[in-house]
Amino acid sequence: MAQRWIIHVDLDAFFASVEELLQPALRGKPLIVGGNPNERGVVSSASYAARAYGVRSAMPVAQALRLCPQAIVVPPRHGEYSRRSRAVMDILREITPAVEQISIDEAFLDVTGCERLWGPVREIGELIQRRVMDEQRLPVSLGIATNRLVAKIACDLGKPKGLVLVEPGTEAAFLAPLPIERLWGVGQVTGGKLRKMGIATIGDLAGWPEAQLARVLGEQGRGLALAARGVDESPLHISRDQRSISQERTFVRDVADEETLQRVLSRMSERVAARLRERHLVGQTVRIKLRYPDFTTITRQVTMPQPTDQGQLIYDQAWKLLGRNWHAGEAVRLLGVAVSGLLSEGGYQLGLFDQQDQRRIRLNRTLDDIRSRFGDDAIQRASWLEAGDDVDDDPPKD
Ligand SMILES: [Mg+2]
Repeated sequence: MAQRWIIHVDLDAFFASVEELLQPALRGKPLIVGGNPNERGVVSSASYAARAYGVRSAMPVAQALRLCPQAIVVPPRHGEYSRRSRAVMDILREITPAVEQISIDEAFLDVTGCERLWGPVREIGELIQRRVMDEQRLPVSLGIATNRLVAKIACDLGKPKGLVLVEPGTEAAFLAPLPIERLWGVGQVTGGKLRKMGIATIGDLAGWPEAQLARVLGEQGRGLALAARGVDESPLHISRDQRSISQERTFVRDVADEETLQRVLSRMSERVAARLRERHLVGQTVRIKLRYPDFTTITRQVTMPQPTDQGQLIYDQAWKLLGRNWHAGEAVRLLGVAVSGLLSEGGYQLGLFDQQDQRRIRLNRTLDDIRSRFGDDAIQRASWLEAGDDVDDDPPKD
């Protein structure tokens, strides 16, 4: 299996950086984007020049001004920030569709397998920084690691304009010297409990047996024991912009023949699956689309117990849906199949699949490999080859 690579992208002092961009006179000055201090406004964002005085996000503006009286306070312009955020996210989605946006200025990218397209993962990171700077004039920091947890912490440590790459196998050593509060879910309460136990760094935490942590902290203790060793297999939740991967076909002549429908559906399912695998995605919901000669169109969908990137499994579900909604002899004008409920494949380790699936996965990897070297038509499954198709693929629509 390809080395899993996750990049955490975080724009530096985003709102303040946008204001500096729009009002060059503010550049380099202590700048606070926030509410009116007389109305108990809080700091939404502070430039690094203001942070040098101890100003932090979520701090009351009145308190921030006591720390840094010369700071310039400007009200937020959320429309402007949203527009620029979308432009940055679009850049990220050109690198890979496997983007999980977690806030207006932060996202995870699953770039597993993207090296073939973009080069080594560090170069992918540099490309992102360069493009966001060249095209949006905004500084961005990146953390690159084998999982979300470590990528996020790496990104935080490099700010601003940082690029921190944690090599596979060095996650625990990278985290060890850091204070426990760097871990997700360790705030004042948990942090206080841990410090009372003599646990100050993530390395201290990693030295404690999981069972003992679970006794003190319950279920959270188990999670922390894993996190402290840099283990995190959680998948990315792909944003709504990549909702589904689909194929559909409008027949040159309406089709009423079961075998042809089966063959076309099988071929489209395989194509959808190959595109899922290309993007390192798995999907859990299969949808079919049926259009009749009078242009009546129906869609039907089913959600499977496990997400998949396997054509046969997608086809099985699609054919069942078709069987329930199509009556023998009925003419069909268009047939489509789509997979949605997409997740990045990285979180689904092979162990979750049964033996037969593992064989299929290996077979499909080989097929994908040959297709990528010799073109899509180099290999066709036997079922595609019976009789010539009198249909053409519609261009992909996703
Ligand atoms: Mg940020």
